[in-house]
Amino acid sequence: MAIFWEQLERYQPVVVKMLTKSLEKGRISHAYLFEGQRGTGKKAMSLLLAKSLFCLHRSGIKPCNECRNCRRIDSGNHPDVHVIEPDGQSIKKEQIEMLQQEFAKMAVESDRKLYIIEHADKMTTNAANSLLKFLEEPRPGTVAILLTEQYHRLLETIISRCQVFSFKPIPPALLANYLAEQQIPPHIALLAAHVTNSHEEALELGRDDWFAQARKIVLQLYEMLKKNDLQALFFIHDQWIPHFQEKQQIDLGLDLLLYIYKDMLHIQLGQQDKIIYRDKIDNLQQWALSCSQRQIVKNMEMILQAKARLNTTNMSVQLLMEQLILDLKEGKAFV
Ligand SMILES: [Zn+2]
Repeated sequence: MAIFWEQLERYQPVVVKMLTKSLEKGRISHAYLFEGQRGTGKKAMSLLLAKSLFCLHRSGIKPCNECRNCRRIDSGNHPDVHVIEPDGQSIKKEQIEMLQQEFAKMAVESDRKLYIIEHADKMTTNAANSLLKFLEEPRPGTVAILLTEQYHRLLETIISRCQVFSFKPIPPALLANYLAEQQIPPHIALLAAHVTNSHEEALELGRDDWFAQARKIVLQLYEMLKKNDLQALFFIHDQWIPHFQEKQQIDLGLDLLLYIYKDMLHIQLGQQDKIIYRDKIDNLQQWALSCSQRQIVKNMEMILQAKARLNTTNMSVQLLMEQLILDLKEGKAFV
């Protein structure tokens, strides 16, 4: 799918403004570092920058997205645009050396060459040192774009050679709008947009029946908890455990439960615009009335503790959830 500057501008206005300005002035750096969370558009931006530099039918700085060069960049087949990704767990010295050999030759089709290093923080020390030498002696016409989600793991000396752009997390409301445009029902869209910052992942969740069902089960569990614990315990056995099986799914289920408490807290703080389960606002308002703020916060802590136990111990899901149900009950004593 071709991406345009206008689309990225909605999500990363500052980065787009600075990059388009340098393109307009023909002042392209030898090395860029794009840092930010997963799903913030770093890769899309780097490919767009590549197309803006290589496009045969540019209008202003905008690539046509249709010419031979644009299409080859999209499909990863342009001889002067290279993308390096981790080979297994890391980016190895040999990968950087191959890149250097490739770049020692003249550009195949133009006077420009561009390379993108994904997950640049995963370079081994040797690879990073090789790259550093490369960055220190840039050949004219060479552009490097390093991408990372873990900025602090890069060598200081590498960072200082690059022009750094920070990619901001995408506001959930903006992501939810995008999902709604893709025909995802609004109540699912808003929830998915809070679970992840990535467009692809959110879209996948939004289209997944499992996710819609997960939402239903979590809301039902909360209603059970409001009634009595015994029912909630039965519900855990009958509905929750069969649905949330993988560790990742359980973790997600706990997040969805956490959002109910967050919503109640936002209602109590008068921040209605932050509510995630917006279609349940009447219930949430009712529930929020019957809880103290302290109790809500306490219960949120209990869920976070369960999440921590899930990720650090081998406790069975059944035990973990039973314990949580009892802990959430205990929370009520704090009213
Ligand atoms: Zn083009």
